[in-house]
Amino acid sequence: MKLKDRVSIITGGNSGIGKATALLFAREGSKVVIAGRNASRGREVMGAIKNGRGEAMFVKTDVSKSPEVRNLVETVIKRFGRIDILFNNAALSPVGTVLDTSEKEWSDVIGTNLTGTFLCTRYVLPHMIERKKGVIINTGSINSLMAMKKEAAYDASKGGVLMLTRAVALDFAEFNIRANCICPGAIETPMLRDILNQAPDPEAAEADLARKHPLGRIGSPEDVANMALFLASDESSFVTGTAMPVDGGILGGWT
Ligand code: NAP
Repeated sequence: MKLKDRVSIITGGNSGIGKATALLFAREGSKVVIAGRNASRGREVMGAIKNGRGEAMFVKTDVSKSPEVRNLVETVIKRFGRIDILFNNAALSPVGTVLDTSEKEWSDVIGTNLTGTFLCTRYVLPHMIERKKGVIINTGSINSLMAMKKEAAYDASKGGVLMLTRAVALDFAEFNIRANCICPGAIETPMLRDILNQAPDPEAAEADLARKHPLGRIGSPEDVANMALFLASDESSFVTGTAMPVDGGILGGWT
């Protein structure tokens, strides 16, 4: 078991990539704390982990709200006494250019994707510093490294997530805290489904997207969870401040 007895917080652990990671981390021996807004999906994942004899809890949390993030971290410390791994994975992904994006949409996306990552990191770090040990993993995107059409707010937020990852990696390396950013390509999750369903022909849009990835397919949530496991485990003990693509080769060049 690669994460035996470690305590992990996974934001957005009740869906898609976060859910696959919660299930994998639990199988690898971690106690898993799932944070998200939707309690019924959160309890479902917690139930699946407990059925597999793992240990899990769900803490209803909106990561864009400081008091809720503080409550999340305090609850975890009270129950488990420490936090070994923080996976900042929750995000929103609206479609639109700057002109199509309302001020509310902009602040919701930045508030969840970037400020949410900042807040969770800020509340968790003191507990990691105290133990001189910790791993922070942020879900960026290929959009952290290249813009995509009609995704202005998302592009800005994910670019910010990558630079925040590097800042944290630099500032806290002396405390043996590692921070890395996973940059997924298209992954089969409810978020991607929502985006595809907004296309005039969702099936054609899906085929086109798969074709744009050199490996010729859309990724699975487990593809990303496996990278998160590597970054969470001691196997990556000399890896920090990186952008790790899990993108079927799309950042490598045009097909
Ligand atoms: P998903 O299934 O829609 O999951 C998104 C998660 O974020 C949900 O669990 C949602 O839970 C949570 N969330 C959203 N707003 C939140 C908030 N304010 N507070 C707490 N939790 C919140 O989508 P996914 O594809 O797995 O996305 C996971 C991550 O991968 C995101 O960072 C996304 O940007 C990134 N990503 C996805 C793809 C892709 O193609 N799918 C590609 C690149 C990067 P609640 O609604 O219950 O709060």
